[in-house]
Amino acid sequence: MSSGHPLIDRFARRMSYLRLSVTDRCDLRCTYCMPERQQFLPRKDVLSLEELHRLALGFIARGVTKLRLTGGEPLVRRDMIELVRALGRELGRGLDELTLTTNATRLAEFAEPLRDAGVRRINVSLDTLDRGTFTRLARRDSLPQVLEGIEAALAAGLSVKLNTVALKGINQEEIPDLIGWAHGKRMDLTLIEVMPLGEIDADRFDHYLPLTDLRARLEQRLTLTPSAHRTGGPARYADVAETGGRLGFITPLTGNFCEGCNRVRVTATGQLFPCLGGIEQVDLRAALRSDDPESALDAALDLALRIKPERHHFAIERPGSAPTLDRHMSATGG
Ligand code: SF4
Repeated sequence: MSSGHPLIDRFARRMSYLRLSVTDRCDLRCTYCMPERQQFLPRKDVLSLEELHRLALGFIARGVTKLRLTGGEPLVRRDMIELVRALGRELGRGLDELTLTTNATRLAEFAEPLRDAGVRRINVSLDTLDRGTFTRLARRDSLPQVLEGIEAALAAGLSVKLNTVALKGINQEEIPDLIGWAHGKRMDLTLIEVMPLGEIDADRFDHYLPLTDLRARLEQRLTLTPSAHRTGGPARYADVAETGGRLGFITPLTGNFCEGCNRVRVTATGQLFPCLGGIEQVDLRAALRSDDPESALDAALDLALRIKPERHHFAIERPGSAPTLDRHMSATGG
């Protein structure tokens, strides 16, 4: 039986936001995220959709009100929409928001079913509007499907926010145009610093672009006014006078945001990582498959909050610097 107690860590931070990865697989191979020949998890190790559902209910019983489904790419998981429908039935019964982060390659197919299941807002990862740059970055020529997916989501009435990783020498010069394009379609856009998670084929130092530098350059041509807008995540927003839109900044390396942390992550194999930047993990799969799964899951959540670190220690300091963690972003979906 769940204790129903809120999830509060040693630093008095309340965890109300779960990021649940439903697969580590993806149909793209973004160079800053994973190597071309990424080894994916054996399917036998991945939780069933039914187990992911039970796991999410365990978190909702402990006060989680926002649930984001992630990957890899969540929409490549077969029958994923059934999990969304099942979780959508929890909206208004403890769950306030059900959302997901997608690369939009499959969004044209799922936009309406997601809306019908109760999803209202989604995040789309998009780093460029240039087809050549996209193909080099994602190592797949999929920009047309992505743009079609975004249009389908907007047509379905979903609120779309773009997440753009700022990359020196790759999309840096294009970012003002990307902002204008997004705001022209009434989409917020959030800029994100590269995070040193997992070995990749490139050297992250070559493409790491501190958002403090990028913001200073943007402010030479755009008028940014700090905004009180919050989405429950780490982004800090500014209103852009010239476009009438909103621009977010996620700055893990130049502006730590751990003090207000409200989230934990679970991988598709049921490993709970209390912190994106930490090695601490708790095995929820064993709890789910135990004789008394509800109590075992509850105890596992309590353990996770006891070991959750205060903050991350991400760093990209010199050429060839090793990643802060071996674990790839695709394991927890950011
Ligand atoms: S790095 Fe860890 S502590 Fe910091 S905001 Fe992310 S999950 Fe929270």
